[in-house]
Amino acid sequence: MLYLRSIEVIAILSSRAVRLTATLAVLLMLMRPEAWAQPISTGAFWTRIPAVTVVAVAPTDPRLALVRDAVEFWNRTFAEIGSAFRLGPVAVVSGEIPLGDLLQLSQMVVGHGGPVSLPASVANQTGDLVVALSDGEFISFCGRSESGNKALVAIKSVYSTPLTLPNVPRNVIAHEIGHALGLGHNNDPAMLMCGRPASCRPDAFASPNEHYFPLTAAEKMQLVALYPSTWKPR
Ligand SMILES: [Zn+2]
Repeated sequence: MLYLRSIEVIAILSSRAVRLTATLAVLLMLMRPEAWAQPISTGAFWTRIPAVTVVAVAPTDPRLALVRDAVEFWNRTFAEIGSAFRLGPVAVVSGEIPLGDLLQLSQMVVGHGGPVSLPASVANQTGDLVVALSDGEFISFCGRSESGNKALVAIKSVYSTPLTLPNVPRNVIAHEIGHALGLGHNNDPAMLMCGRPASCRPDAFASPNEHYFPLTAAEKMQLVALYPSTWKPR
């Protein structure tokens, strides 16, 4: 019957509107995968293989091996999810990024995210992903440059809590590199990328057994969307 009462027409139109809105939302997410990002996402992704430069004062810094491990962890993850992307080679530079620069950036980034203007002390480093192993006291963070082709991961002193707790430095370093890859936070303390505004803090990584906390299925999907099997450096 072609005759429809107005209420039925409204019902059909509104259900179509709901379907259309849902379809558009899915299409938008597929077109802009970074829109999936949780709060505090860096909102950016690499368009080339980032060379990693670790800036450390002492060649005996226990975090040096953990940075190499974390790069391997992420590259293993990319292989497992079928992504063509990999983090690049790791080079170690003797020195330090001035604590004043790190304190200022930490305040700008923690709880806010988004791109930042990286100071010359970071911008002048040769690598694309600069990992600063600091002896300073601040909240470890990741800051991504406005141009998107340089990022800083800054790790606080390993001689004070929570980085003195077993298994914490390993996961804090992997977590911050996760931000440098474009991931945001989730609110599950059993997961690697748990963070603000959720109440989990790095001490949640403490464990007598050294191991990496896992990624959520949604984060793996987000990584595949950012770095698919067809990903190529531009
Ligand atoms: Zn975080």
